[in-house]
Amino acid sequence: MATALLPQPFGTKLAWYSVRKAASWLVPEGLLLGAAVASLHMDALRDAVRDFAPFYPVVVFTLGFLLALRFQRSRLVLALVALALVEWGLDRTRTGDVGRFVWQAAAVLLPLNLAAVMLMSERGIFTRTGLIRIAVLLAQVGGIAAAARYVPSRAAPIVNHELVRAEWSHGTPLAQLPLLAFLIGAALIVAGLIFKASPTGRAFLWALVAAFLGLHSVATPVAATIYGSTAALILVVAVIEASYLMAYQDGLTGLPARRALTEALQGMRGKFTVAMIDVDHFKKLNDRYGHDVGDQVLRMVASRLKAVSSGGRAFRYGGEEFAILFPGNDVGERWSELDALRRGVGESKFTVRRRLQRRRKPAKGKNGGNGTGGRPQITVTVSIGAADSRGRPDAPELVVQAADRALYRAKDAGRNRVES
Ligand code: GH3
Ligand code: MG
Ligand code: MG
Repeated sequence: MATALLPQPFGTKLAWYSVRKAASWLVPEGLLLGAAVASLHMDALRDAVRDFAPFYPVVVFTLGFLLALRFQRSRLVLALVALALVEWGLDRTRTGDVGRFVWQAAAVLLPLNLAAVMLMSERGIFTRTGLIRIAVLLAQVGGIAAAARYVPSRAAPIVNHELVRAEWSHGTPLAQLPLLAFLIGAALIVAGLIFKASPTGRAFLWALVAAFLGLHSVATPVAATIYGSTAALILVVAVIEASYLMAYQDGLTGLPARRALTEALQGMRGKFTVAMIDVDHFKKLNDRYGHDVGDQVLRMVASRLKAVSSGGRAFRYGGEEFAILFPGNDVGERWSELDALRRGVGESKFTVRRRLQRRRKPAKGKNGGNGTGGRPQITVTVSIGAADSRGRPDAPELVVQAADRALYRAKDAGRNRVES
C-alpha cells in the first residue's frame, strides 16, 4: 500500500522491509477479519452485534455493488454476487435436510467460484463475457435449487460423501467435500499470487477465510452473516485500496508517483536533499526505436534508482524525469553517490527485444550502436541536478526548484553529469 510514504530510517532498512512486508499482508484485510472475530467473541458486544447484523450485509453489499458499477470492476461484481447469493440462500433455508444440502452445496461452490474470479481477468460488466460469467453463477444457483427440490435424497449424499476418515474433519460441521473445495480454492488463489502478486489477489485469500468461517458458523446465523458480509467488505476495501495505489504509484515503473513525492515533501521538515534525474536525448531514442523501447528504458532507469542506498527514495516525477529524496541536508555528501548512479545507468547496455524492434533500420549514432546478432544495443545517459534544504528548511518546493536549476546546468554543460 502506501509503503513508499512510510518513513525510512537509515540502517534498519531490512527490518523495516520485513515489517512492511508483513504489514502489507495483514493490513487492512486481516484487521477487518480480526475485528469480526473479536466482535463475535466479546460478551459485552453480544447485543450490539445482534442488532447490527441485519444491517451489515445491506450496507456492505449496496455500497459494494455501487462502487463496482461506478469503477467498472466486474470481478468485484461477480464475487459480491456469489457471496450475496450464499447469504440470501442460507437466510431462506438453513434447517432440515434441504437446508443442510443447500448449505453444503453452497460451501462446495463458493470457494471454487471465488478462486475462479480471482484468477480471471477484468472483462467488463455489461459485456458479452461479463454477462456470461454472471449467467454461469446464476446457473449454479438454479442447479442447487433444482436438486434441492426434485432430487434431494439423491443429491444430499453427493455433497456429504466421505472422502477420508470422519474424525479428520470433526472440528467443523462442514462435510468433507466442501472442505476439499476450500482447500482447492485456497491453493488456486495462492498459485495465482505466486504467478502474479497483487493486493487484490491477497484480499481474495482473506475473503475466502472469512467465507469459510461464515459457512462453518451456519448454526449461529448472526456469526454467519457477520463473516459473510466481512468477506464482501474485504473485497470492497481492496478495490478502494487499488484505486488509491493507482493514484500514488506509477503504473509503468512501479515507483511512487509525483503525487506521492508532493506529499512526502510536505511532510519533510528540516534536513533533506532532492535530486532530479532526467534522461538525456530521450525524445531521439523514442523517435528512433519507438515508444515501447522508450518505456523499457524508463523501467531500467527506474530499477537503478530504486536500488539507491542510504535512505534515498526514488519517485517518477513525470515523463522521463525522476526524483530522489534523501535525508540529510549536505548535498556535497550525496555527490559521489549520485555520480555512481549516473555512471551505472550509462554503463548498462540495453538490448532491444526482437518483438520491439522497428522495421526501420536504426541509424548509428550516440544511441544506436549495432549490437550482437543484429539486435541493436542501446545505451542511455542521465543528467542529475541536486539541492539541499539549507537556508530553506520549510520550503520544499524551493529545494525542488533549485534541484531543477542544477539539472538545467548539467544539461547545458553537456549532459551525462551531476550538478549541485
Ligand atoms: P534532454 O536531453 O534535453 O532532456 O532531451 P529530451 O529529448 O530527453 O527531452 P524532451 O523533454 O524534449 O523529451 C522528453 C520526451 O520523453 C518526450 C516524450 O515523447 C517522452 N516521454 C515522456 N513520457 C514518456 C513515457 O512514459 N514513455 C515514453 N516512451 N516516452 C515518454
Ligand atoms: Mg530528457
Ligand atoms: Mg525532460
